[in-house]
Amino acid sequence: MTIKAVRGVHDILPSEAVKWQHVETVARQAFEVYGYEEIRLPIFERTEVFARGIGETTDIVQKEMYTFEDRSGESLTLRPEATASLLRAYIEHGLFVNPKPVRLYTIGPMFRHERPQAGRYRQFHQLNLEAIGEVHPALDAEVIGVLMELFRSLGLADRLTLAINSIGDAACRPAYREKLVVYLRRYAAELCEECRERTERNPLRVLDCKNPRCRPVLDGAPSARDSLCADCAQHFLDVQDYLKAMRISFEINPRLVRGLDYYVRTTFELTTTELGAQNAVAGGGRYDGLIELLGGPRDPAIGFAVGIERVVQLLPESYGDAWEHRRPFAVLIPIGDEALKRLLPIAQALRVATPKPVPVELGYGGRKLRNELDRANKLGVAWAVIVGERELAGGQAVLRDMKSGSQQQVSLRVLVQKLIALSSEVGHD
Ligand code: ATP
Ligand code: MG
Repeated sequence: MTIKAVRGVHDILPSEAVKWQHVETVARQAFEVYGYEEIRLPIFERTEVFARGIGETTDIVQKEMYTFEDRSGESLTLRPEATASLLRAYIEHGLFVNPKPVRLYTIGPMFRHERPQAGRYRQFHQLNLEAIGEVHPALDAEVIGVLMELFRSLGLADRLTLAINSIGDAACRPAYREKLVVYLRRYAAELCEECRERTERNPLRVLDCKNPRCRPVLDGAPSARDSLCADCAQHFLDVQDYLKAMRISFEINPRLVRGLDYYVRTTFELTTTELGAQNAVAGGGRYDGLIELLGGPRDPAIGFAVGIERVVQLLPESYGDAWEHRRPFAVLIPIGDEALKRLLPIAQALRVATPKPVPVELGYGGRKLRNELDRANKLGVAWAVIVGERELAGGQAVLRDMKSGSQQQVSLRVLVQKLIALSSEVGHD
């Protein structure tokens, strides 16, 4: 019996991987011009990093974590998100001594035990970006600006909607929470099971329910925005002013709360109408109290996470073409071991050619010529170079145009230059 991948995880095959590489390259560029530096983190942590860092009452901690005991009996968890882990590192390595804000990003897999469905996986991948140590609303605008710049560079900005909200802070949110709970309890009978349960556990998250049956009640719920204290209200207005100055369009969505306990003030989300129910491509917000909660200094911070699977899904199919171009440009076919030895350094020289390497594949010298040409055909390469005993004796190679089937003799001494010239003609990359 063959062994299959675990439910809810997926392989990224070569034709897809080029899109992933593209997203990651564009992201690194977009983040680094703003001064964000990469940090690479472990994919598992002590469970308490997430229990404390994400919040005991959240869906993630209650239902979604991959938690296990290792051989020494310690409770470890595969990271369900990057922020808590990144802050653990920030504190552990004293990164807070650097000039603030400290700007960091990280890219990698996350693990959540969710019900698998289209666009929702148990191992998925995120781009995470965090700016730490500054409360100024201009930083909120910067972080949102980086996010928008990323999607502009990917050519996807027009297909996404940016929504922002403010959910208040330690001063004003408790009163709002109270008001919301009273309201939700009053309409409990009209809400789904999950909403009723969340009302007691994590009431803000109720507003996030995607069940259409709950919408009417939730649309009438008191809005966090009306309960903001003066400081939070001002902060929110400033963020909007800066976004306008940056020519970033947004809508205010008073229902936009985030699933994690630690968010305060600014929350934001990027959505698309093109991916069905799983329409959130990125989300983020401010988390001013979290670093202190994790045992670090009182550094405020803001960040976002982008779901890479969903970004890749939005990329046009034509990105896959880049994959075609990576196939070898030529196949070198030696007949016999002596020919193989003559072609080995030639293949190497082509692969390190400057300014542009020429990707070539080299046969082993043992297969039949007809099979080798068949293979070259299937790979879709432009040229085959054949060196048999006769060619070797005359210091020649046969250069075959795989499309037309026409052949010419080329001296082995100039073969490298010849192939470099041919490959630059077609702009092969
Ligand atoms: P949702 O409400 O969809 O569960 P979330 O609040 O759990 O989202 P975040 O923790 O903010 O999501 O993660 C940021 C982004 O990561 C999401 O906007 C989404 O694009 C992506 N994401 C989250 N969970 C998954 C998953 N299970 N599979 C694929 N992508 C995911
Ligand atoms: Mg979720």
